[in-house]
Amino acid sequence: MTIANRRTELRDYYSTSFDVQNLSQVIDFSSFSTREFGFVSLSGKFFRNISFETPKALQDFLIDRCPTDAYIGAVYENPPSRQNPIHTLEWKGHELVFDIDLNDYDAVRKFVCDCTGAGQVCIRCWQLINVSISLIDETLRRDFGMREIVWLFSGRRGVHGWVRDPETISLDRDLRQSIIDYLSVIKGEDETARVQDRKQLKYEFRKRTEYTIFKYSLKDVRRKDLVAIGLSGSAASKIVNQLKHQDGKVDENLIRRFNKSLASVNKYDEVIRRWAPRIDHKVTIDLRRLLRMPTSIHGKTGRVARFLDLDTVFDFNPEDEPSIFSDIKKSKEISGF
Ligand SMILES: [Zn+2]
Repeated sequence: MTIANRRTELRDYYSTSFDVQNLSQVIDFSSFSTREFGFVSLSGKFFRNISFETPKALQDFLIDRCPTDAYIGAVYENPPSRQNPIHTLEWKGHELVFDIDLNDYDAVRKFVCDCTGAGQVCIRCWQLINVSISLIDETLRRDFGMREIVWLFSGRRGVHGWVRDPETISLDRDLRQSIIDYLSVIKGEDETARVQDRKQLKYEFRKRTEYTIFKYSLKDVRRKDLVAIGLSGSAASKIVNQLKHQDGKVDENLIRRFNKSLASVNKYDEVIRRWAPRIDHKVTIDLRRLLRMPTSIHGKTGRVARFLDLDTVFDFNPEDEPSIFSDIKKSKEISGF
């Protein structure tokens, strides 16, 4: 694929399908001119410390320069530029953001699907991400009173959550860290990850975590999956039969039964550990972080970083997302990103 071809494809997209007004769903346009932006050029160079007077100027830039990747950063006192880079400017705010990536689930997704290697993703392992979105979104709204929360597909193997409530934008690093700590169901990483001591989690959040995880881990569950967790054959059969009897509906009664069965074989923590959210802490606490621009193109996949609708998020399959890159469209290797 030549640079000229890529330029044409990106220009087509940014001039006909991209609407810069969509960015108002994640950022406040009143401070647009002092906001930092970053880009990867067609030749692969990364640039930051760029600002635009108006959203229209940004859209013109995208059409003219056709960057392969576009990012949004923080708001500063003055417009960032090469002459006035961000570390010389007073920081004014950054939306509260959450980054969840399937890469961080490699140690546990073997329990839900047969995907192997970093390149693969399927509807089953994507449910791990969806469970995390559901739990985090509901907790931010109920326990923290946040209202303006949107979720985006990253264009590759993850999602980003943006909170743009005015009171969250000025949160400092320590406060962002404390929100992360509140949401941390597990400690440690990969194979060493363990469920937090129950006393560390607020009661409401712990119950919500349990309910959300059990509800989705029982969805479409097979008897052999339950036996593999450690349940006895008869306990597994009872759950699967009840599920069948209820036309696949997971209700509180079934969750209670599952909870009891897990506790009796000491596997409660194991199931929570497998499904617990893995949030990239570094992204949330980095006040100057550049995050992929909503509805821009992911340079490796050609897929749009599009908004996710929480009502239908469990039907979302990243593998079905089209690529604007013609060479990728033709290739099944799209999942090899
Ligand atoms: Zn999978």
